[in-house]
Parts: sequence; C-alpha cells; structure tokens
Amino acid sequence: MAEAPPRAGAIAPGATIGILGGGQLARMLAMAGARLGLKSHVYAPDPQSPAFDVCALSTVAAYEDEAALAAFADSVALVTYEFENVPARSASLLAEHCLVRPGAEALAASQDRLVEKEFLSGLGIATAPFMSVEDESGLARAVAQLGRPSVLKTRRFGYDGKGQALLRDGSDLADAFRSLGGAQAILEGFIAFEKEISVIAARTPDGGFAAYDVCENVHEHHILSVSVAPAAVAPATAEAAVAITRRIAEALDYVGVIAVEMFVTREDGQERLRVNEIAPRVHNSGHWTLDGAATSQFEQHMRAICGWPLGATGRIGGAVEMRNLIGEAAAAWAQILADPDAKLHLYGKAEMRAGRKMGHVTRVIGHSAAKTAAPTLDKAR
Ligand code: AMP
Repeated sequence: MAEAPPRAGAIAPGATIGILGGGQLARMLAMAGARLGLKSHVYAPDPQSPAFDVCALSTVAAYEDEAALAAFADSVALVTYEFENVPARSASLLAEHCLVRPGAEALAASQDRLVEKEFLSGLGIATAPFMSVEDESGLARAVAQLGRPSVLKTRRFGYDGKGQALLRDGSDLADAFRSLGGAQAILEGFIAFEKEISVIAARTPDGGFAAYDVCENVHEHHILSVSVAPAAVAPATAEAAVAITRRIAEALDYVGVIAVEMFVTREDGQERLRVNEIAPRVHNSGHWTLDGAATSQFEQHMRAICGWPLGATGRIGGAVEMRNLIGEAAAAWAQILADPDAKLHLYGKAEMRAGRKMGHVTRVIGHSAAKTAAPTLDKAR
C-alpha cells in the first residue's frame, strides 16, 4: 500500500506522535519521545492505561471506534502502535488520515501466524514445519503429516502462549482443537531448540538499518522471564540472525523497530536458525537497551518513524541482563533498589495480577556504576 504523504512540515521536534495502545511499550515510547522534544497522543480503550501517565494527549476509545480514530489521526503527525493486533480496518482508516509506521504490510504479515509463516517461507527463511488447520479433520491430517510432539496455535490473537496447545503422544485432538475455541489454527512441528534468541533492529524510510546485539531469551510459563545480551551463540549465527532480520525488514519496506524471535537448534553439530515470530514494534526482549545500549529501542523507534538518523546500537559494558517483574515479583522493588547496579523500571500498574508484566530490572554486567568513581568537576573540565 502506498504511504500517504506526510502532513506539512514533516516531523520535527515539537510534533505529536500518535501511539495506538497504552501499555508499558507505549509508555516507554512516549518517554523516549519526550526526551527528543516529541509529544505523544496515546489512544487506548482502558482509562487505567500505564502510558496515560506520561503523554501530552490521550484518547480513551475502542480500537474500532472510527470517529475517535479519525479525530486521533487528525491530531498527530503520524501514528505508530505498540501491538500488532490493530484491526486491519482501523489501520487503513488511520492511513487515510496520516502516516502509519510501520505500514500495513508489516501488520498483515505479523497478525496471522499462517500468513507470517508463508511470508517467511516465500523469502526462503526457515521456520518450524507448519500446516493450516481449519477443523478437527484438518488437525488429524496435519498431525499425520507433522507428527508429535507438535504445537497447535490459533492463527490470530495469540501471545505469551495463549491460544496454544502442545500435542503429545496420547493428547486428544478434538479436545485440543476445542481448547482453542474452534478458531482457525496452524499446527507446527515441535522444535527441540537449544536456545531462543531475538534480534531487535530498526529501519528508516530511506533504507538505513541498524541492529542491536542478538539477545537470548528464557521463557517461564510461555512469558518472557529473562533476556541476556549478547546471546551465547557463534558469531556466524548472530550474523545470520541479523541478516535474516534485515531481509524481513526490507521485504516489508519496514519503518521502525522490528523484533524477530528465532529458535537456535543444533543440526550436524552446527547452530541453525528458525524464525518463530515477527513483532512489528518495540519488544520486551529489547528492554535491556534502555540501560545497556547507546540508544534504547524506544528512542530508535521514534528516530526511525520520524525519518531521523538512527542512533548507535553498541552495547554498554560486558553483558546486559533484563529480568521481567511479573505479578508479585514487583513487590520486591525496595530490595532491587538496594542493589546500586540494578536499574528498576516500573510501569505504574496499580494491580499486581499473576502473569502481569509490572516492570523489569536491568543489570549491566562488568560495568558497575557503584564502583565507578564520579569524575570531579575540575577533572571533567
Ligand atoms: P509463540 O507464541 O509462538 O511465541 O510461542 C511461545 C513459546 O512457546 C515460544 O517462545 C517457545 O518457547 C514455545 N514454542 C512455540 N512454538 C514452538 C515450536 N514450534 N516448537 C517448540 N516450542 C515452541
């Protein structure tokens, strides 16, 4: 789809950026934008959205509310989003009024797991083997083809392991299909991975590209728990992961930060990559960049969508660890603060529910702020 022309004056500090979605990603985007002199207008249906604490303008409305979407789009220089499940109709309505970055192709390729896997296969990028599943008999055919264990996933609206069922020997296929509410699905062959990694990168409208160090991710109960950068993979594997991400971004004529999650397997003694998921947005596994890289993924996204030059992506220190604070883990905030090397990020969510991402903590290893003497003013001059 052709991009609408930017409104007069293009994007300069002082412009207002529209952010669809009001969670922690939107909050951290708005904070990064503010540092660059950009204002944010956050659009979200929940009046308690964490991003509302830190934005200049807010709209509380449904993602399908066409009048509210049009008014929102008319009030901003461009619209970006913090989640890929923006309804296609809402995205095209927004695009009639202003620039939307990343564009519609990126949304289409990431909203539906079947479309996503077909897109990746079309680029010659390895994924888990997969088959479309429309109904129970289709599931039986797919299992006959791909074997067990295998993973049944809804095509749409799955995240943090929701909308997934692992099929083991003896799992009842009808039960598994029903557990997904009868939604259109795909079956994926189970990948016995050694590691899960992700690449966070950014692309500008004129094709500029910059990637961060590849990071390694550990999930607990399907929710990201810890990310460590750099990932302990061979240099050639890290290079290949970045090259895959670049190929995806170029194929989508992508603008903004993109995250690509991959499985690392070992085949014939060699590390091999298979892409699991594309996120057309800033990503939880890139939170380490806030304290551990020269430019955070949030600043980088703002730079990219505004058509500004990208910042340096180099790592600060030896390694960086990001640990999510999920549910009650955030209650330990005082203990975390007592460690002078820990950088605490809280998202301002009032209610500590199980499984809810309340914040995260970053530690830059081999770069102890506590042990570094502050330069005196005299020496600094
Ligand atoms: P997803 O919702 O696709 O990101 O999947 C959530 C998590 O489930 C992944 O991070 C993996 O740990 C696991 N998983 C998903 N798909 C597969 C697969 N085909 N084989 C093995 N594990 C998988």
